[in-house]
Amino acid sequence: MKEKKTKQERTNGEQELTPEQYHILREKGTEAPFSGKLLYNTEKGMYVCAACGNELFSSDTKFDAGCGWPSFSNVLKDKIILQEDHRSGMTRREVLCKKCGGHLGHLFDDGPKPTGLRYCINSVSLGFKKKIVKKKRLKVSFLPLVSSY
Ligand SMILES: [Zn+2]
Repeated sequence: MKEKKTKQERTNGEQELTPEQYHILREKGTEAPFSGKLLYNTEKGMYVCAACGNELFSSDTKFDAGCGWPSFSNVLKDKIILQEDHRSGMTRREVLCKKCGGHLGHLFDDGPKPTGLRYCINSVSLGFKKKIVKKKRLKVSFLPLVSSY
């Protein structure tokens, strides 16, 4: 009996990347400033790695740094790796996804208080998971003991 073999090997949780995502996440590129879709996103939710879905930044830490890239004053615990980057002739701290090693952006020290940090991240490297706010509904299946009238 012949078995049909289909090879669908994927790296852990790896998602399909667009050429632009590949360039930035895997070849450490940088998107053009003010071009990112998530730059002006003000919705509540979680920013994740575009390559592997790793949760990275909360919308609560996002701020407008005016630099043209989505900026965050803090990162979720234990989600990224920092490494020295000498490529531009100066030493910068490169921000990498801890799960897949994807290049996200750089870390600078001119962010707002209390952290003083600015995670300057390519929008292309990020996905966004909108927070679903559940509407609280009062149960009406019981009779109120105290009437407010
Ligand atoms: Zn990742």
